[in-house]
Amino acid sequence: MPEQSPGPTVSFDGVIKRYGDGAAVDGVTLDIAGGSFVALVGTSGSGKSTLLKTVNRLVVPDAGRVAIDGRDVADDPPARLRRRIGYVFQNVGLFPHLSVGDNIAMPLVLAGRRDPARVAAMLDLVELPRAFATRMPAELSGGQRQRVGVARALAAEARLLLMDEPFGALDPVTREALAGAIRRLHADLSLTTIMVTHDMAEALLNATRVLVMQAGRIVADAAPAAMLAGQAGAAADALVAVPRAQAERLTAMTR
Ligand code: ADP
Ligand code: MG
Repeated sequence: MPEQSPGPTVSFDGVIKRYGDGAAVDGVTLDIAGGSFVALVGTSGSGKSTLLKTVNRLVVPDAGRVAIDGRDVADDPPARLRRRIGYVFQNVGLFPHLSVGDNIAMPLVLAGRRDPARVAAMLDLVELPRAFATRMPAELSGGQRQRVGVARALAAEARLLLMDEPFGALDPVTREALAGAIRRLHADLSLTTIMVTHDMAEALLNATRVLVMQAGRIVADAAPAAMLAGQAGAAADALVAVPRAQAERLTAMTR
């Protein structure tokens, strides 16, 4: 794979999003370096999905701004913005009446491009057989469907990948395999990747930087090693304690 410049930077500046009386996102200021793999972790309702969606304008902040490579996301029409951003969420939402190949080609069609070779290349990239192009989504397993979702997200050469609980509905073995595929893709394509998860172990094992969100705010921000070393504060420690205790119990059982 040719050397590529890293994916874009993403910056949040005083971002606030309110629903009714409460703030789902309550003043987030943050710079994400190009090429990094950031995990956004927190309990349910902490504001992770809302913050992620401000990047592709599925959510428009009440205050503050979000910029990609320094350019305000509000400056582009949403359709054009979203073409440059891959977005993968739980139960990825493939079009059930379209073949796998047509699903993957959808962003290309929307961009006015016809490029059948690209579908095959994307299937290679997510490690699915090329013959899957003619299958229907219902003929795939959950893990295979998520791989198609990733292929579709990146088909139009997006350099920024947003993922919201991408492994949510998958069994642990399939999760591990898909996480490995995504780590390789991230590295090979030099993407900037932001992954939302409620699972601290998944964050620590996949990301190069872990952000902890609580009640709409970023309350911890550290590399996995620092977080494991207890250097990221009480909120991070509480989340790290769960998988650590599980690992210790498993280890104890083998003694
Ligand atoms: P997370 O992804 O961390 O579980 P969300 O970002 O989905 O959290 O939600 C944060 C808070 O904002 C929650 O209290 C949720 O109920 C609220 N919220 C999110 N989206 C909406 C919406 N479209 N309308 C009203 N409230 C919402
Ligand atoms: Mg969510």
